[in-house]
Amino acid sequence: MRLRVLGFWGAYPEADGATAGYLLEHEGRSVLIDCGSGVMAKLLRYVQPKALSACIITHFHFDHVADLGVLQYALLLNSFSGGDKVLPIYAPRTPEALYQQYEGVRGSELQPIADGDRLKAAGVHFSFMRTRHPVETLAVRAQADGRTFAYTSDSQFFPELADFIRGADLLVAEASVYAGEDGTPAGHMNAEEAGRLAAEAGVGRLLLTHLPHYGVHRELIDGAARHFHGTIALAHTGACYDV
Ligand SMILES: [Zn+2]
Ligand SMILES: [Zn+2]
Repeated sequence: MRLRVLGFWGAYPEADGATAGYLLEHEGRSVLIDCGSGVMAKLLRYVQPKALSACIITHFHFDHVADLGVLQYALLLNSFSGGDKVLPIYAPRTPEALYQQYEGVRGSELQPIADGDRLKAAGVHFSFMRTRHPVETLAVRAQADGRTFAYTSDSQFFPELADFIRGADLLVAEASVYAGEDGTPAGHMNAEEAGRLAAEAGVGRLLLTHLPHYGVHRELIDGAARHFHGTIALAHTGACYDV
């Protein structure tokens, strides 16, 4: 598997940037995980929407779904010009009003996923665990060819999350605030907690994402390194990682 970062900002994108969006590629096929603000324009550098195998939405916060509607428009236009592609979009069923907004658009088909569910797309086995965040949010574990990728999506720190991502070769973990700051009330981790999670789960490499709009990002690595002694990097658009 190979992971391409399309966007990494938390909450909103900086100029020409994007919020959460990750392209997981395997054997020439790809799955889009989250479709935040600015992600569509980045996605088109690599793949046409009609060529995606699936889209997985971890939760209905705008920094993870802002471009989902326009992704659906691209597939709708493809269907108008004779394309028969129907893209499965997997997403949590709540908040129900938001889920329903994306239903019934030709060219794509919304399918609910929940804690404990499993599915296969692009030859990759996916499983999901509910995180601790203000709306129903799913962490993602993806396995293929004996390798494992994991993504926390948005969550505060809790020990069971480490069980879910245990042994992942690559962990993409949110680090919304700096070590010493408390993200828990908003359902987020600080960099030190992201490092603790990686250490407790025994992952191979740690990629920090969902980054804040202040401070010096390099210090996020220092915070995570208090617990995790493996390789730590900061997500940036276009970055590509072999899992
Ligand atoms: Zn969120
Ligand atoms: Zn978010």
